Amino acid sequence: MASMNIRSGDTVEVIVGDVNSRGKRGKVIVVNPETHRVVVEGLNLVTKHRKPRSAQEQGGKFEQPRPVDVSNVMLVCPKCNQATRVNHVLGDNGKYLRSCHKCGAVIDTRAERKQTRTAKSKSTSTKRTKKAQTDEE
Ligand SMILES: [Zn+2]
Repeated sequence: MASMNIRSGDTVEVIVGDVNSRGKRGKVIVVNPETHRVVVEGLNLVTKHRKPRSAQEQGGKFEQPRPVDVSNVMLVCPKCNQATRVNHVLGDNGKYLRSCHKCGAVIDTRAERKQTRTAKSKSTSTKRTKKAQTDEE
């Protein structure tokens, strides 16, 4: 079960750490399923000091986000704007879609949206039923 609920492009909220980092939100830039780490924009920044090694290269300070463990962050639902656990609902295409544990909204990524659009023409009503059933469980 190496699947991760967080995907690149998601907005996440930090749920652990000190007062400075907890509650911070940012966009996921990189997801690494092997190490279970994500890189979040503006989060866990380290300042790198670099000397110019050539005439073209500029020296100075660079702020770079470092990977954080995926268990340190929670997905922020784009619909209800809350940090939430992720449910999985079966979509029309037979693939599982992520949904918000709090408001039940399906959180789709760009790839999923494309798949959903093609599947939508077949039926939209069965999707509703399936989603409702999943919510009851
Ligand atoms: Zn929600």
